[in-house]
Amino acid sequence: MPATVPELVQSTLGHQDDGDDIRADTLLSATLVTQRSLMNAYIACMLMLLPLIVEAVCAGTPVASAQVPSMATGAPISESLIAKVHATVDEDTVRLTAIFKDLHQHPEIAFTETRTAAIVAEGIGRTGVVGVLQNGPGPTVWFRADMDANAVREATGLPYAANAKQRLADASEIDVMHACGHDAHVTWLLGLAKTMVAMKADWSGTLVLYAQPAEEVGTGAQAMVEDKLWQRGFPKPDMAFGLHTVPGPVGFVASSPGVRMAGTDQLDITFTGVGGHGSAPQMTIDPVVMAAQAVLAYQTIVSRNLDPQTAAVLSVGSIVTGRDNNVIPDSAVLKLNLRWFTPEVREQLLTRIDEINHGVAIAAGARADMLPVRRMKGTAGPLVNDLAMIEAINPSLTALLGKGKVIAEFPAVMGSEDFQEAFTSLKTPYAFLLVGVAPPELFAKARAAGQPFPYSNHNPDFFVDLAAVPLGAKVNAVAALSVLVTRR
Ligand SMILES: [Zn+2]
Ligand SMILES: [Zn+2]
Repeated sequence: MPATVPELVQSTLGHQDDGDDIRADTLLSATLVTQRSLMNAYIACMLMLLPLIVEAVCAGTPVASAQVPSMATGAPISESLIAKVHATVDEDTVRLTAIFKDLHQHPEIAFTETRTAAIVAEGIGRTGVVGVLQNGPGPTVWFRADMDANAVREATGLPYAANAKQRLADASEIDVMHACGHDAHVTWLLGLAKTMVAMKADWSGTLVLYAQPAEEVGTGAQAMVEDKLWQRGFPKPDMAFGLHTVPGPVGFVASSPGVRMAGTDQLDITFTGVGGHGSAPQMTIDPVVMAAQAVLAYQTIVSRNLDPQTAAVLSVGSIVTGRDNNVIPDSAVLKLNLRWFTPEVREQLLTRIDEINHGVAIAAGARADMLPVRRMKGTAGPLVNDLAMIEAINPSLTALLGKGKVIAEFPAVMGSEDFQEAFTSLKTPYAFLLVGVAPPELFAKARAAGQPFPYSNHNPDFFVDLAAVPLGAKVNAVAALSVLVTRR
């Protein structure tokens, strides 16, 4: 869920930007060479994963007497497949939990996820990763995990809490924490990889597992696309999945069709004035006053200009201007964040922002060459789950989790994602699921106290109950099996 857009940080992970048409198998063998040069602790984890992927790529045996995917039938996958997923992930849980704790203890902020990326495979989009499991005929299904952490000082007190600061390329140091559960997302992806390789006789099709950088700043998916994600020869998706943690109870999954999350924009407005002495404001055009007036006027856009039944948010997260008490500065920058569900509302927000900026500047006496400038820094459209995919997976998820544990009517939220931005040009249908990671007793206690959740994503006390580590891997595997060709 994007917060702010910091400067992009140069990655140490070598990435290909030559646009070569790279086949999956050569990509995977090349990965070993690239990653060895990193010489870090993740090599062991990665080497465990990669031979499994290569094996699946080479196997490529179609499933005998394969049935059409339950995508077409809407029926759950068989009980024996569910049992196999349980057994396979349960056997892998010690490894997955160790990986999760290690990831949690070593969080990395947007576009610096090199250590995290080294777990999975090859760098793409600065720090992104793509791994391919080709296993005979059938649909091609992409699964995403995002990898980046948050600039938050952890206060969980967990034995595997992240206590060290992260040093950035400019030598500054920041607090950093996995406060959005992306460490769990990566772990779930690795659990999915191992499970689907172990069960490769039970399904047919192609799975592409990828780890995306920089979700929190809202530009990671776009960075992968701009890094020629779709020109590298990876199998094109027929559908895509993403999972995200929510502080709901472990064992519950929100898997709902239609609009799920708002579209978002990050933008900066610069007011230019004329600086001067604080004692002589009549000699200046004060950008601080212009900025203050604009912030208040913006609040009338949602409340006075939009249809009251339309959901939208305009927040000003930062005002950057001046330094001294007695100096009127010559410029002020406002950092805005928008949330909306339709392009028309987005357009209305931007138009009114421009009109207010213009009006405020003119009223302050700004000359024509000093009018405010709007800079768009990143955008992501609303997240809209595909109905057919949700209908295809929910019966199987219910078979996995139990009756009443799959919430098909979860309300849309004003939070945003950039997962879907990778697939915009291909018009790939996708499903984005929310997986409960809070201890059920803590959740119940919060509800009894009138709180919606025991804690929130991005808070210093956010944590993932370890019971959710294998569970997310199982949700991934069952979702995959629900849309692939399976032996029933
Ligand atoms: Zn987040
Ligand atoms: Zn997140």
